[in-house]
Amino acid sequence: MTPRQEQIIEIVKEHTPITGEKIANMLNVRRATLRPDLALLTMAGLLEARPRVGYFHTGKTPYLLIAEEIRHLKVIEVKSVPVVVTGDTSVYDAIVSLFTEDVGTLFIVTSDGCLEGAVSRKDLLKVALGRGDLHNIPVNVVMTRVPNVVTISGEESVYEAAQKLVEHEIDALPVVEVVSQDDDNEQLKVIGRFTKTTVARIFVEMGEGR
Ligand code: ADP
Repeated sequence: MTPRQEQIIEIVKEHTPITGEKIANMLNVRRATLRPDLALLTMAGLLEARPRVGYFHTGKTPYLLIAEEIRHLKVIEVKSVPVVVTGDTSVYDAIVSLFTEDVGTLFIVTSDGCLEGAVSRKDLLKVALGRGDLHNIPVNVVMTRVPNVVTISGEESVYEAAQKLVEHEIDALPVVEVVSQDDDNEQLKVIGRFTKTTVARIFVEMGEGR
């Protein structure tokens, strides 16, 4: 917020409800000068404008508004395309995919797209440091496998997704959809990818006021 927008908030807090004209008088500026500030503060949800009454302070802080936004924004709206390989893919080809697809984590799926595991760049680096032939080691021997893979559904919030990244100290989550379920077995279809880059992108867009 600009210093003037902060002053406006303070004035409205003290004099609720107050007209735009009166705010302008208190700040020694013309009403028209304040119009963009008042529009922005109203749009951001900090002030509420009631016709013929004036401006009210909604009691919300910018932090509260950001919290609301990230708890409402769903993973499905921001997810990116998942990069998947099957378990029999060699570690060599998996490393090539990291470069060609420009990702840090690959998800391992069955031939019908159901989640089997995840493999990160360091998992692959570790094997590459060994003596084995990378063409002959399948990626499913080095992956973290289901049910240890942390997942997120498209209906969950970006806040919950980011919380999982932090809590489990991982870079990426597969976005999944339950396709079948019996007592102790759940088949999850991989429909997307949510990563630290997704979080950074949301952060930048919010910083730009989008
Ligand atoms: P890196 O180790 O390359 O920096 P991560 O921090 O994402 O990348 O991975 C750390 C470990 O967690 C790796 O062994 C990887 O297999 C595993 N891992 C990666 N993604 C997931 C996930 N979604 N759920 C569970 N484990 C994961």
